[in-house]
Amino acid sequence: MINEKDTLAIEYACIHGLLQLSPEATLRHAPLSVSPYTISQHLQHTMTTLTPACNQLLHNLSRDHECLLDMHTPLADGDEFMAILLDIARNASSTQPASLHMFRNDFMVEEHEGVLWPKLVECNTISASFHGLMQRATQVHSHLAKLGHLPAILPQEPLAELCSGFQAALAIMGLPDPCILFVVQPHERNIFDQRLIQFAIESHLGVPVVRLSLAEIAREGVLRNGHLFVQGKPVAVAYFRSGYTPEDYPSQMAIDGRKLLEAADCIRTPDIFTHLAGTKLAQRALGKPEFLRNYLDATSIAPLLQVTKAMYHLDEIHPSGVPITDHVRRFPQNYVLKPQREGGGNNTYADDIPPALDALSDKRRQAHVLMEKIHAHTHTARLIVDGNAEDQLCISETGRYGMMVHDGTATLINRDIGYLVRTKAASNNEGGVCSGYACLNTLTLEAHP
Ligand code: ADP
Ligand code: MG
Repeated sequence: MINEKDTLAIEYACIHGLLQLSPEATLRHAPLSVSPYTISQHLQHTMTTLTPACNQLLHNLSRDHECLLDMHTPLADGDEFMAILLDIARNASSTQPASLHMFRNDFMVEEHEGVLWPKLVECNTISASFHGLMQRATQVHSHLAKLGHLPAILPQEPLAELCSGFQAALAIMGLPDPCILFVVQPHERNIFDQRLIQFAIESHLGVPVVRLSLAEIAREGVLRNGHLFVQGKPVAVAYFRSGYTPEDYPSQMAIDGRKLLEAADCIRTPDIFTHLAGTKLAQRALGKPEFLRNYLDATSIAPLLQVTKAMYHLDEIHPSGVPITDHVRRFPQNYVLKPQREGGGNNTYADDIPPALDALSDKRRQAHVLMEKIHAHTHTARLIVDGNAEDQLCISETGRYGMMVHDGTATLINRDIGYLVRTKAASNNEGGVCSGYACLNTLTLEAHP
């Protein structure tokens, strides 16, 4: 049943571009919650203040090429995709010292001895999306709040912030008549999020955006004095909304496209090493104090360790003294099995884990990690999907957007630029908005008595 508030939300969403393509390629509003996710000031503070530290950590790790190559090399044998990425990394010859990072740290809130605490699901270093649609979702909720239909929500403008990052990168590059290259998937369904970013860049920065797939970049791109030219213009920034899954490398041509980007002097968001700094394997290392000490100042380490969950290689020993896989077979509901993949839909949960472990060859075992399951606290929310609204028991995942600009010598920007909330039925394990699992949502702060 749809009520007046739902109708307003849907119509506001459609008018303001909070849109999605259906599998049949028709237009519809993006899945949206009309129940902002309530968190305490403390949770908000904890998640937000971690962002600059995580930016710094991932940036520093991305500069340690040797560590990233050593860490991932053992995976190449059992994982063709990792082998492709490693080959690209080993051959990367770009000498561009500057970086524009657009990260997103995803959290779920867990109850621990009566206290709610955020736990890090993962840090995304490639294609951390939804800045565009989240700015629109925030506008929908702000409007409903103004009319008294919703509580006041936490304001944000992640799209505008993202643009300021591109602006800083353009200034560092200082190219005459440049373009910004969006590296895209050929049949993108999350096109409106990307178009919102493209239109904001074009109208606010006056720089054209060129959208090309990796294979098209190989076919059309020309390297001249280190600069990559597409459609006659030098590329200042290559912004990846592709390249993170094996399906993005269907041909040698696509691999060559990524290699061309890694040979060019454009700023890549991300470059191949920053991409590798976001794998599940790298994330496992982020829970280890001795590892963190190499990349992060001491004051930032303790707060980070408080939000990380244990992650294991499949041949590790659990603190109880038994092999981790034996422990997981006894308590599969407390773990998630993850391959080195991005984009959602790749993990294995609960009772599906033991047979999945049995099915892994020795080679493939290396390319998986086991992560302690975050038992997210539940709340009720009203979700609107494809014009239908329903009250459901839900869990919410909050992503904090981090942005960092480094000119090769100094950090110019390092800050939190907003948030993504995805609210989904508590019975769903995965959280993708485009895959239809989750609804976009905003944050509201707990009222103090
Ligand atoms: P991807 O990089 O493919 O998005 P993630 O590791 O982020 O993979 O997992 C996808 C989704 O699975 C997350 O958005 C979250 O909903 C769920 N998930 C992942 N790890 C955990 C965990 N440790 N506990 C509970 N849910 C998890
Ligand atoms: Mg991810």
